[in-house]
Amino acid sequence: MVVSTINGTSPLSHSNGTTIPLSTFSRNSFVNVEKGDPVAFRPYWEKVRDECTVDIKGDEWMSYLGDTNNLCWYMVPQMRDAILRLHNVVDNAVTKDKFLVLGTGSSQLYQALLYALSPSESSHRPINVVAAAPYYSEYKDATDILQSRLFQWTGDAALYDKDEPYIEVVTSPNNPDGTLRVPVVNSGVEGKIIYDLAYYWPQYTPITYQLDHHVMVFTFSKCISHAGSRIGWAFVKDIEVAKKMIRFVQLNSIGVSRESQIRAAKMIGVICYGYKNLKSIEFDHLFFDYCKRLMKERWEKFKGAIEKSKVFTLTKYPTSYCHFNKDLSEQYPGNIFSPMKSENTYSYTAFAWLKCLEGIKDGVSYLEKLKIRTRGGERFGVDAKYVRVSMICTEDEFIELCTRLSNAKRE
Ligand code: PMP
Repeated sequence: MVVSTINGTSPLSHSNGTTIPLSTFSRNSFVNVEKGDPVAFRPYWEKVRDECTVDIKGDEWMSYLGDTNNLCWYMVPQMRDAILRLHNVVDNAVTKDKFLVLGTGSSQLYQALLYALSPSESSHRPINVVAAAPYYSEYKDATDILQSRLFQWTGDAALYDKDEPYIEVVTSPNNPDGTLRVPVVNSGVEGKIIYDLAYYWPQYTPITYQLDHHVMVFTFSKCISHAGSRIGWAFVKDIEVAKKMIRFVQLNSIGVSRESQIRAAKMIGVICYGYKNLKSIEFDHLFFDYCKRLMKERWEKFKGAIEKSKVFTLTKYPTSYCHFNKDLSEQYPGNIFSPMKSENTYSYTAFAWLKCLEGIKDGVSYLEKLKIRTRGGERFGVDAKYVRVSMICTEDEFIELCTRLSNAKRE
């Protein structure tokens, strides 16, 4: 069997059997790549749709409770097992001796963590929350929306110079610019670090280490791509922090939808089954490899469009050695299904981070004229010259995006 390309030769059909819908774009309609809605991997889920079907009867999953023997009492055992299995397959995090806390998306866990990591004595001033710019655009608003007396957004971690308690959010790979990050605050006071690892999965970045931090947050949205299920999880070293997070989730939403947990567990099970049964599974059914290939093809096409446009420059993305893919190619010795062998260094991040060349001050406005909707640098704590473009949009949107970008000309 020949390993097919994702886009195939025709713009309308994939050689792997799935189809790309005819373009729905007219010259006047916008291509919206402003959000990071992860719909790019739908073709994979179309392939395995039957294996993933979940049947829930009318009398099932009624209770608030998931597992009263677990500290995270609203998490069902199937969900916990699936998450642990997934990390075991990908090897991206040390899960041993940590508490697993489930959330309604990692967005809820972010707020749960701010609550849990803030000093509880009321005499304290709000703790400062920082992240190195460009930072994920939602942190600021999610920190400040309730004008808490416990914590406050303080901005760019690289500029933080107070000798006061702080929480630093380290997003690696980073949204928006894909960089691999470590804490940057230089302060006389020891801070608390939240590692947001939403994109530390093999389709986006090489899995170089099994990360082993005190607080590591992951999301089903960007790993598996079913953002609508609203599942996120955190591995937390300190039981007191975990307990406070669980109390936050209890007061905020009394747990996490059990239907979502059951569906999420099923999908993770399908992915893991593939990697545990490499010999009997078609290469196209290996989730991370399928998605990585799709991202690779998109990035190549996108870079070509940017070069043609001569209006933007792209961030130089770091590449490093991927142990996940190395392991895979070792398990397929000499097999035709091992196209990743020579490809253990790469960076196919979920967003492209563009900088306008001289003469263009506002990237968003410039691209609006081309009918491309993007998110501007100011939302990420930097200059309006920068824009973020989603690389995980639909195929239809992506093709149109590349066409419009390659036609862009300096004014
Ligand atoms: N962190 C980062 C870095 C993200 O990009 C996102 C989603 N855009 C989130 C957290 C929130 O994810 P969730 O859907 O799990 O709330």
